[in-house]
Amino acid sequence: MAVPLFNTAAPLEPIDAEIRAKVNEIIDSKRFIFGPEVEAFEREFAAYVGTAHAVGVANGTDALLLALRALGVGPGDEVVVPSFTFYASAEPIALLGAIPVWCDIDPTTFVSTAEQVREVLTPLTKAVIAVHLFGNVAPIDEIVALGVPVIEDAAQAAGTILADGRRPGALGSALATFSFFPSKNLGAFGDGGAVTTDDADLADKIQTLRFHGSKDKRTFTEVGHNSRLDALQAGILRVQLPHLDTWADGRRAAGQAYEDAGLGELVSLPVPTPGAAPAWHLYVVRSERADELVSILKDANIGTAAYYRVPVHRQPAMRGYVPTVDLAGTEEASRTNLAIPMSPVLTRAQADEVVAAVGALAPA
Ligand SMILES: *Cc1c(COP(=O)(O)O)cnc(C)c1O
Repeated sequence: MAVPLFNTAAPLEPIDAEIRAKVNEIIDSKRFIFGPEVEAFEREFAAYVGTAHAVGVANGTDALLLALRALGVGPGDEVVVPSFTFYASAEPIALLGAIPVWCDIDPTTFVSTAEQVREVLTPLTKAVIAVHLFGNVAPIDEIVALGVPVIEDAAQAAGTILADGRRPGALGSALATFSFFPSKNLGAFGDGGAVTTDDADLADKIQTLRFHGSKDKRTFTEVGHNSRLDALQAGILRVQLPHLDTWADGRRAAGQAYEDAGLGELVSLPVPTPGAAPAWHLYVVRSERADELVSILKDANIGTAAYYRVPVHRQPAMRGYVPTVDLAGTEEASRTNLAIPMSPVLTRAQADEVVAAVGALAPA
């Protein structure tokens, strides 16, 4: 039996009719830009995350770009960001003429420690982007305590929860960003994103920046962007949001199934940071024999993907930004990681099948 790397279709099947009804309702309403669906989604998503405000934007990359601009990041400023992440975590920094300063990660958790962030702070540091990679949780309290404004990149962490009930996006950062790319834990039927914050002034800034630097469509106070979450996507996300926790539980159960099936005896499993119950966006293990695993899992019809084999600081467009510290954890994670099937509906039988295939790797 084939086990795909993702399964975005099956969780949506039970709400398919409801989503189509919502799409029809919005088509009939003729309100495609801003309007009640977008406002309702923003209210509901802020309530879910646990922040005072959520502002819908066009995608997760723009969410970061606008968050950086809201903090006043501009040419010559330094912004700390991990190199072991999706390229989009760092791209908006360079786009603004600011300097991405690479911090390392702990390869067992795939997120940065506060110490790894502290190591690269300088008097020019204007902000830190802490990435909740794969759904795990970066230690925001400790990073905030370093005294620099923090942006949480929570693109991969919708549905994750901490033991104290808090969620990524509401962990004490200045601003947090989400992506609703279709394969993310909460996925639109196209592009979408959001910025969350407790700060009314920052929320106001994001609202202005996403619409050409204007509040009233007549007076343009800033050079802004056209970066909106549209009403169709907002409506589709509204239908899905009440199911996000169930889907997140399914992802956690799938991770547990891998553990119960003994996967940890064969490869290194991802380690949740203290207090975190990750809604694994990707379930990423580590092995010195990752490349061999790719081929035996492929032969067994099991989906795999290696993530960020070339970390961001070694991408051609980033060659001008030379690391200021050793990125040993980044290099290790980029070399040894392998994502194996993960979805809200992955069964114990599928987990057993994956573990059996991994176990078939001949001893070195
Ligand atoms: C997906 C993702 C983004 C970018 O989101 P888009 O909606 O694709 O622009 C940013 N950061 C991380 C960590 C992501 O996984």
